[in-house]
Amino acid sequence: RNSAEKFEFQAEVSRLMDIIINSLYSNKDIFLRELISNASDALDKIRFLTLTDKEALGEGDTAKLEIQIKLDKENKILSIRDRGVGMTKEDLIKNLGTIAKSGTSAFVEKMQTGGDLNLIGQFGVGFYSVYLVADYVEVVSKHNDDKQYVWESKADGSFAISEDTWNEPLGRGTEIKLHLRDEAKEYLEEGKLKDLVKKYSEFINFPIYLWATKEVDVEVPADEESSEEEESTTETTEEEETEDDEEKKPKTKTVKETTTEWELLNDMKAVWLRNPKEVTEEEYAKFYHSLAKDFGDDKPMTWSHFSAEGDVEFKALLFVPPKAPHDLYESYYNANKSNLKLYVRRVFISDEFDDLLPKYLSFLMGIVDSDTLPLNVSREMLQQHSSLKTIKKKLIRKALDMIRKLAEEDPDEYSNKEKTDDEKSAMEEKKGQYAKFWNEFGKSVKLGIIEDATNRNRLAKLLRFESSKSDGKLVSLDEYISRMKSGQKDIFYLTGSSKEQLEKSPFLEQLTKKNYEVIYFTDPVDEYLMQYLMDYEDKKFQNVSKEGLKLGKDSKLKDLKESFKELTDWWKKALDTEGIDSVKISNRLHNTPCVVVTSKYGWSSNMEKIMQAQTL
Ligand code: ADP
Ligand code: MG
Repeated sequence: RNSAEKFEFQAEVSRLMDIIINSLYSNKDIFLRELISNASDALDKIRFLTLTDKEALGEGDTAKLEIQIKLDKENKILSIRDRGVGMTKEDLIKNLGTIAKSGTSAFVEKMQTGGDLNLIGQFGVGFYSVYLVADYVEVVSKHNDDKQYVWESKADGSFAISEDTWNEPLGRGTEIKLHLRDEAKEYLEEGKLKDLVKKYSEFINFPIYLWATKEVDVEVPADEESSEEEESTTETTEEEETEDDEEKKPKTKTVKETTTEWELLNDMKAVWLRNPKEVTEEEYAKFYHSLAKDFGDDKPMTWSHFSAEGDVEFKALLFVPPKAPHDLYESYYNANKSNLKLYVRRVFISDEFDDLLPKYLSFLMGIVDSDTLPLNVSREMLQQHSSLKTIKKKLIRKALDMIRKLAEEDPDEYSNKEKTDDEKSAMEEKKGQYAKFWNEFGKSVKLGIIEDATNRNRLAKLLRFESSKSDGKLVSLDEYISRMKSGQKDIFYLTGSSKEQLEKSPFLEQLTKKNYEVIYFTDPVDEYLMQYLMDYEDKKFQNVSKEGLKLGKDSKLKDLKESFKELTDWWKKALDTEGIDSVKISNRLHNTPCVVVTSKYGWSSNMEKIMQAQTL
C-alpha cells in the first residue's frame, strides 16, 4: 500500500524471527495458545480500565469481552479476534517490533544452544510464534484512543503500518490474520483448532468461540417437492406414520443441514473458585501449565488450594513449579518478579504486585482472588490496602505448610519414622520429591531464613544439608538433633567450598574421632545464612573452625594450658604483627599439631574468600 509507513524490526527481534521461521521445530501448535493468551491479557486490561471508567467498555458488541476464531479455507487465513484493549499506532510500533522485550536476547541465546521453543511465552515474545505457521501476518487493531490501524509483515526484517480504511471497523480490539504457509494447512481444520483450545486454553477466563460448521436437524414438510435442493442435504429420514395420526396434518421429514455458528470452546471455569475436592489432579496440572506458560510434560511438584475466611476473605491456589525458572535468582534484589496473579472478585487486577509474597517465595506460581479488596480503585491505592498485609501473611504460612508437606510425604525423609505398609506404598511415588524440591529451590529457603525473621524457625525446619554422617543423603536439623550425642549441646557445622575439601579438614579430626556429626555447608549463601540462624530448638550453632568449640569436659586441658603458657605467650608475641588475637592450647585436634581458628564474631576463612571474590 502506498500510504503505509515502513519500519525495521529491532535487530534482536529480527534475529528471533529468523530463528522462528527457520525452525524445524515440530510442535507448531504453540502459536495458537500464545495468541489466545495475548487476547486474554488484552481483555483483562480493558476490564480493569472499566472499573474506574465505565465509558471505556463501549456499547453493543464492542462491550462483549470475548475471543473469536475464524477460518477462511479458500484464502488460507486463520484469524483470531478479541475485544480487548487494542493497540494504538504507537503501541503497534513499539510492542510488535521496534522495542525488544527484556527476554528477547535471553530467548535467542537459549534457542541457539538448543533451547525449547515451547517456552517462548515465558520470555515475553510469544507473539512472534505466529511465524511458525504463517508467512504473512496482519494485525488489525483499534484502541479507544486512536483510529484503526493495520500492522503487517512478511518477517523479512521490516513491517508496515497503515491507517485502516478497508477492513470492517472492529469497534475495539485486535484481529490477527495469519496467512498460513502450505505446510500449516492443518490449522484450517475446525477439529484441530478445537483440540488445541481444549488442550492449551481451557482455563482462559473469557469465552473463546469458533465460527464452526454444524449439522442441524430441520423439519420440512415431506409432501412438498424439495424446493431447497440447493441446500446441502445429506440424509433424509421419513418420519414414521402412525395409524392414529390425523390425516390433515402434513407429513414432515427431518433433513440434515449444514449451518455455521459461533461455538463456545471453553467453559471458563475459574479453577481457584471451585471446591478443591472436585478438581482433579489433571485439571490442576493443566491449569498450572497455562498459568506458567510452561507446556512441558512435567507436572507441578505440588500445590495448595485454599480459602481464607475472617476479616479478609480470599481464595488462593499456589503451585511449586517442577523446575526453577531460568531467571529466578537473576537480579534478585532489584527485580520485581512476582508470579502471583491478583484478582478481585474474578477481575484480574495485576501480576506485578511484588508485595503479595516475599521475594524468597517468588518461585511460586499462583492466583489470589479476594472478595475483600475494593474493585474501583487504582492499582496504586490497592497496593496500599491494609488487607494485603493479612493476605501476605496467610499466603506465606500456607506456602511453608505446603513445602513442609512435600517433605513429610517423602519416604526418603524421616526414614526413621514408623510407617504402616499401606502408608509405605502410598508414599512410594513421593520418594525423593523433597530432594528434588531442595535441588531446585533450596536456595530460596536459605534466602528466606536470612530475610524473614518471623518465619525463621519454620524455614529452618525445611533446611537440608549433607554432613559427616549423611553418606551422600540430605539431612534435616531435626534429624541431626535426633542423633546428637548425649551431652552434646551445640549443633556443629563447617563451611567450605566443597564436601571433599571439608572432609579433609583438620577441624574435623577430633570431632570425627569422638563420633560427633558435623554439618557441611558448601554453598556461598550458607555463610550469610549462618549469620542469621543463631539457634534451632534451643541449640546453638557452632562453627567448628571458630573459637569456642566445646567438646565436653577435659580435666587435663587446664593443666596443659598451664604448663605450655610460656610457649603460647612467646608465640602470640611472635605473631602479633600478623594480626593474631591469641594462641591457645585446645583439644579440638587429633593428628594435626596446630590450626588457625577464626574468632567467634569474625568471618570464617571461607567467608573471607567469598567476600574477596565479590569485591573483585
Ligand atoms: P507478552 O504477551 O508476554 O507481553 P507477546 O510477544 O505475546 O509478549 O506480545 C507482545 C505485546 O504485544 C504484548 O505485551 C501486548 O502489549 C501486545 N499485544 C499482543 N497481542 C495483543 C492483543 N491481542 N491485544 C493487545 N495487545 C497485544
Ligand atoms: Mg503473550
